[in-house]
Amino acid sequence: MTASASRLRTERSEALTRQALDLIPGGVNSPVRAMRAIGREPIYIERGEGCEIVDVDGNRYVDWVCSWGPLILGHADPDVVDAVRDAAGRGTSFGAPTEAEVRLAAEVVDRFDSVEMLRLVSSGTEAAMSAVRLARAATGRDAIVKFAGAYHGHSDGLLAEGGSGLATHGTSPTAHASRSGAARSAPPASHASRSGAALSTPASPGVTEAQAAETAVVEWNDFEAVERAVAERPPAAILAEPIAANMGVIAPAEGFLEHLRTLADRHGALLVLDEVITGFRVARGGAQELLGVRADITVMGKVLGGGLPAAAYGGSRELMERIAPAGDVYQAGTLSGNPLATAAGLATLAKLDAAAYERLGELTERLARGLREAAAGLPVQVASVPGLVTPFFSPEPVLDFATAAAGADTYARFCRGLLERGIYPPPSAFEAWFVSLAHDGAAIDRTVAAAEQAFAEALG
Ligand SMILES: *Cc1c(COP(=O)(O)O)cnc(C)c1O
Repeated sequence: MTASASRLRTERSEALTRQALDLIPGGVNSPVRAMRAIGREPIYIERGEGCEIVDVDGNRYVDWVCSWGPLILGHADPDVVDAVRDAAGRGTSFGAPTEAEVRLAAEVVDRFDSVEMLRLVSSGTEAAMSAVRLARAATGRDAIVKFAGAYHGHSDGLLAEGGSGLATHGTSPTAHASRSGAARSAPPASHASRSGAALSTPASPGVTEAQAAETAVVEWNDFEAVERAVAERPPAAILAEPIAANMGVIAPAEGFLEHLRTLADRHGALLVLDEVITGFRVARGGAQELLGVRADITVMGKVLGGGLPAAAYGGSRELMERIAPAGDVYQAGTLSGNPLATAAGLATLAKLDAAAYERLGELTERLARGLREAAAGLPVQVASVPGLVTPFFSPEPVLDFATAAAGADTYARFCRGLLERGIYPPPSAFEAWFVSLAHDGAAIDRTVAAAEQAFAEALG
């Protein structure tokens, strides 16, 4: 809509983009920020306050990205800012242990039944990569099974058919969806094995065939495909987001996580649940508490660092004592458990009590209901779990990546329409909308009003 295109001032963002394109690949330090998937230039942010962000041209938006999940308390929460300021005044990093690491570990163990011990790292990528290394060491096997459209960070072997930015930017030669005819690009070299699992080809140039060959990829919520893949080549780990949230939010089908648990036990594999998004968000003890499933290794991040770099992986004492220096599996980090990140994480988790989760659930429901009403009569499905929402452009309920991918172009138009109206949604159809405790009824009402117009525009 050219009429609405004039609503945003963009001079300063454009100038910074021109400079950045010369210095930083694509002008950004993580691909989705470039907004190419929705046909826009990046928007440079100047500051955040609660549930709002203000860009360098002075445009103000209700923010549904919230740094892609960490900011469950919203932007610049005063308690988090104070905690970080205090910690910084005492020194930003020592490369020696600090009390806050012990307190943060205790808080995680208290929340996750399946976690007796954990190791802090600095990113979800590192945590997932290290969890897989541990699973391989513990089982003596190399293969892993993951799900199409799930994202576990960008370590080489885990890029196969990843969701999130990888799907957004279609850099994956196996970016598929061909099965339902919703292909974004043909899956050139990925060949189906007997099990129907894709024997993945490298998902990015630079990933070796050997690394990709260790990763079998099956469709999310496909009971039989995962059973065949696990039986055909018993893996070190079945790796899953317990509630898929990097292909939009797609909850597990009834019994699916129990099925994964059973398969892992039957075939001597570990169940590794990547709760980088769901942990500390969908419930106090993550998706494992919400859905009553138990992981062997849990991968955490995002909310855990309260907006600073912290992530973790954890499990039983027996498994975790394989990690150096208690055991022989090497893993280390210069800034692991650093004082700023642990301070922000502790300050964030301190506010996430039962009342906070109840409120987050209510806010999520209010947004989801509002979006459903705004899209009434249109081919839109609004998926939600506590703290996460996705509007899918699909006439049918979305249960897998292929169906999610089919609506991406319409989502892009919808997204541009929202931005013009002061609402900042994830600029990718594959990312969840992140609800925070700083959102309120007024922010949701503004969003829903804008969405009603943007839905009509996108589908008109
Ligand atoms: C974001 C994410 C990661 C990667 O975390 P980074 O901190 O970005 O490296 C891994 N797994 C899931 C499920 C994620 O959403």
